[in-house]
Amino acid sequence: MRKPESEFMTKKCLAVFLSIILVILVFPAGAFTLPAGAETSKKCGENLTWEFDDDRTLIISGTGSMWQYFRDDVDCSRAPWRGSSCKKIHINSGVTSIGSWAFYECHNLTSITIPDSVTSIGEYAFYECTNLTSLIIPDSVTEIGNGFLLGCTGLTSISISNSLTRISVGAFDGCRGLTSINIPGSVTEIENDAFSGCTNLTTVYYQGTVPEQWEEITIGLANDPLKSADIVHVHTFSDGWQTTTASSCVSNGLERRVCTVCGEAEERIIPAHHTEQLIRTVSPTCTNGGYDLVRCIVCGTRYQTNPTAALGHDYQFTGTVAATCVKAGYHRYTCTRCGEEERTAIPAVGHYFLDGFCVDCGVDEQIAPYDLNGDTDLNALDMVVLRIGLLKNDTESPCDFNNDGVSDIRDMVRMKKMLATVLS
Ligand SMILES: [Zn+2]
Ligand SMILES: [Zn+2]
Ligand SMILES: [Zn+2]
Ligand SMILES: [Zn+2]
Repeated sequence: MRKPESEFMTKKCLAVFLSIILVILVFPAGAFTLPAGAETSKKCGENLTWEFDDDRTLIISGTGSMWQYFRDDVDCSRAPWRGSSCKKIHINSGVTSIGSWAFYECHNLTSITIPDSVTSIGEYAFYECTNLTSLIIPDSVTEIGNGFLLGCTGLTSISISNSLTRISVGAFDGCRGLTSINIPGSVTEIENDAFSGCTNLTTVYYQGTVPEQWEEITIGLANDPLKSADIVHVHTFSDGWQTTTASSCVSNGLERRVCTVCGEAEERIIPAHHTEQLIRTVSPTCTNGGYDLVRCIVCGTRYQTNPTAALGHDYQFTGTVAATCVKAGYHRYTCTRCGEEERTAIPAVGHYFLDGFCVDCGVDEQIAPYDLNGDTDLNALDMVVLRIGLLKNDTESPCDFNNDGVSDIRDMVRMKKMLATVLS
């Protein structure tokens, strides 16, 4: 009775033992296996969570390190967001590491923000993020894993942490979009293949001295692009600008700064300038700009500064004068600040004759063309209007009663006749 059971136990132990071996074979030493249910719990670290917002941004929040992930299809070892088409990744402050293979094959990824709480980036973390064009690795990062940007062919701009001492194996392998790179002075070792396949890399900006410090860097095998690139020293001006000659009201001054690495100095002019004291501020009006009237407390010169644009009128509707049969009307708009007026015309409506008279103004259809002042009557006043019009050579209101194409004395004669008819 006991034998089968012990045989069973032996088999069970063997199975457990074999599965442990299997796990050890599948995952490298020190590998972390995601706990079951991690995907539904939205956890990506002991104290980290992940979520997507509406516009395909992956947000990682919490404190501490991210779990390590792996490339292969063993479900629980792949990053839980693998296969999603996330475009942006936002890592919140508090996260201290980016796990290995974390963003592998995020082909749609175009930008990621890494906070300065992150100190390490795992291996192959951004492997084949082919649409990623720029990346800023904050100065808090002291360690980058092997191949962390392997195959990021779209990457054209990268800023490397100033705390980095080692550029790991294959770190930028295949980043053929990079034409230049800035290597901080802290780097002492560049490992094998770190820049292999960076076929367009032509310039390296290096913060240490060239050639002295650059030659002290241990550079591994298969870094030909790095070796054929121009190595250009980049100055570090940590002390900022120091004034060597102060400027005055009329003469320029000079300031200089010194590279703390190579000792080279740079100079620039401090333009001459007055020391201003405000006398008064002139506010802008509708039509004129404003300014500050100032005085130099050193030399006493007065001048205008800080110009501001004219405000423009603030027109509000303030009434309408209706159009009549013969006279145009208008809508009136008045500026609330300065009272300036603007009008938009309403065209004259014209007579509407019925049985020889206008139904609107009552003018006789026969005399209507001669009623130049619009008082519905033909009299001496209309003659005056015509006379003034002829004197002014007014072509805008022609009184061409005889239809000969011009307003002239003949029209006045015709008008006189008509007036005589009316008066008789
Ligand atoms: Zn320098
Ligand atoms: Zn002055
Ligand atoms: Zn105005
Ligand atoms: Zn009328």
